[in-house]
Amino acid sequence: MVAQDLAEASELLLSSELAHRAARVLRLRPGDQVVLFDGSGLEAEAVVTAISAREVGLRILQRSTPPREAPVRVVLYQALIAATRFELVLEKGTELGVQAFVPTVCARCTSRPAPAHALAGKLARWRAVTVAAAEQSGRTRLPEVSKPLPLEEALASSPGPKLFAWEHAVEPLPKVLERLQELHPQAVSLFVGPEGGFTAEEAALARSCGAVAVSLGPRTLRAETAAIVLCALSLLALGGLAPPAG
Ligand code: SAM
Repeated sequence: MVAQDLAEASELLLSSELAHRAARVLRLRPGDQVVLFDGSGLEAEAVVTAISAREVGLRILQRSTPPREAPVRVVLYQALIAATRFELVLEKGTELGVQAFVPTVCARCTSRPAPAHALAGKLARWRAVTVAAAEQSGRTRLPEVSKPLPLEEALASSPGPKLFAWEHAVEPLPKVLERLQELHPQAVSLFVGPEGGFTAEEAALARSCGAVAVSLGPRTLRAETAAIVLCALSLLALGGLAPPAG
């Protein structure tokens, strides 16, 4: 992914980390072709015009907007969990087509939000995980990762229908998704709790905010498994996993 706006540029000069990857890891040479994206939905084929370990020159050959993004905006409100597991959710969610991640602070979170001075570093780390997953999976839009929000604020500001994964829910997810399909929502908000689960008060709060509690089956899944299953099944039901057109 490049930082430059691909709609504007016809020649690009990439420096530092991308140049290192191009020269040392991918071992590109002048004349080699690459595919670039800028996270806005645009993709570009480009040819390497010059390369060193510190700089790569590229000329754009053609631009396109491949239809690889899900037709529904899936926003995942994942409670803060252990760092490596949270990053796994970011990686797998990005591959699946999640468009935004909101780290959520719940009563039983053992992982606390980073203090103010460390938040920028944490957000940069999370963004790097989504960039790597977006590059690997051919995403054309980079999912947003916002700063952590308390569950109450997350529920109040979440777009579209809200699905709240709760072990004590009686409605199975597929049944709720069947109803959602009829509504053709433009966005859907998915909530997954921390390792210790949501409290009964949080489940009541979610209900009072219009969220539907959904069951992912009779077994208790780890939070990251629950997030991946909830995203995958929701995207499948709402057209986000359909094969490319044509
Ligand atoms: N320790 C908690 C308990 O037994 O009450 C379990 C929490 S579970 C490890 C983490 C999160 O994954 C839950 O808050 C919920 O959002 C989701 N989850 C796990 N299994 C689920 C299931 N069978 N149905 C719905 N949600 C589930």
